[in-house]
Amino acid sequence: MNISSAPSHLARRDWLKSISLGGVASLLTPAATMAASTATNRVRGIVFLVSDGMSPGVLTMAEAFSQQTRQRHSRWWQLLQNPQSCHGLMDTASANSLVTDSAAASSAWGSGHRVNNGSLNLSPEGKTLTPIAALLREKNYRCGLVTTATITHATPAGFAAQAPLRDEEESIAPQYLDRVDVLLGGGREFFDADKRSDGKDLVTDFTKAGYQHVRDRKALRESKSPRLLGLFSTGHIPFSMDRKNHPTIPALDEMAEAALTRFLSQEKPFLLQIEGARIDHAAHLNDIAALLHEQLEFDSALEKVLALTAKHPDVLVVVTSDHGNSNPGLNGMGPAYQDSSECFARIARAHESFSSLLNRWKQNPQQNLTAMIQEKLGFPLTKNESTALRTILAEKPVVEWNHLLAKPEGLLGQFGGNHFGVGWTGTTHTSDPTIVTALGPQSQRFSGLIRNTDVFRHFSELLLG
Ligand SMILES: [Zn+2]
Repeated sequence: MNISSAPSHLARRDWLKSISLGGVASLLTPAATMAASTATNRVRGIVFLVSDGMSPGVLTMAEAFSQQTRQRHSRWWQLLQNPQSCHGLMDTASANSLVTDSAAASSAWGSGHRVNNGSLNLSPEGKTLTPIAALLREKNYRCGLVTTATITHATPAGFAAQAPLRDEEESIAPQYLDRVDVLLGGGREFFDADKRSDGKDLVTDFTKAGYQHVRDRKALRESKSPRLLGLFSTGHIPFSMDRKNHPTIPALDEMAEAALTRFLSQEKPFLLQIEGARIDHAAHLNDIAALLHEQLEFDSALEKVLALTAKHPDVLVVVTSDHGNSNPGLNGMGPAYQDSSECFARIARAHESFSSLLNRWKQNPQQNLTAMIQEKLGFPLTKNESTALRTILAEKPVVEWNHLLAKPEGLLGQFGGNHFGVGWTGTTHTSDPTIVTALGPQSQRFSGLIRNTDVFRHFSELLLG
């Protein structure tokens, strides 16, 4: 990837014609750029979009998938071509591993310290770290969290909560009260009295503090409340490709719009995190169709954010990921790789996520699994593949060459790869740097190679002074 330079396909004359102050600034040395822009480019608000678990190769495949299924470029791809935006790579390690989990990654962004995997804003020495949402609250600034996971999941939590273990979502939920103004996502189970183990009614606590509680798309659209608690599913929001049966759940771009318009309409500084959380989950499952559908849903949210902020020169937009996951990539297929494009085109014919299909089969294992896969995922299994899949679903050992892939999803991902052309390194996060793209005032801070902890430094310098 060509970082921090003009896109080669643009004629230089056109490029020069199109550049604005931000574009000119990107031609200067970093120090000169910083000095020039600090004086002029005040940041009133930051929108931070996270495609969770997006390996770098996903961006290329999402662009091809967008062309196939939407007949247009992905918005992130276009942003990479925009000479006014800045581009970089992020070093994502945690305190105790070259490979971070989402809790440590979001803590690095949220408090500026690398912590051990699994913990939220707790230093390896046991010191409690203050998340950025608490610092914003001290100044009476505003903060929002939007996600397709439970709202108490690791990535949103890293900005606003502290917990020794990320799974303590019941203890994370009350920490948002009065600290985060807009909360939109899944995870009703951690707020409702009848679902929490302590029986506490957090929804009432939030409504007493001035939040409007909404549970579906219609209520979200109609709400005018500046403070909002939107919980649209018990746990995570279902994969977008499985959401046809859930018409009342808003899409990520609708949640992003609801949150962002609340912040843009006021003069107060704000920080809004928007997470496409389930890109990561689809990568863990080696499910390329689910992953690309999630990535395009994230891309639509990015499109919405760019449209809404176009007339707000004091808003910085940053798009990135917290870590790679399983590093999917389209392989060269067939002689001279001539089959790759046709293999990739088959992905659009899949109509159900792996997890939904396997869950349906588990409810009635008498069903013909091979036929279900052919019907919903669009590819046949060989006799050997079918036998191996049934063996591992029966929790019996199979011949394994890679321990990480020795699970039903890993095997199905490998078999799917024979038809879709997409291979996977495993079923877990990876150490690769993530891509960062920034647009707006001070966007040059995100050029080149940055460290995940730099995000906190930049955000606190820009918003808190
Ligand atoms: Zn993950």
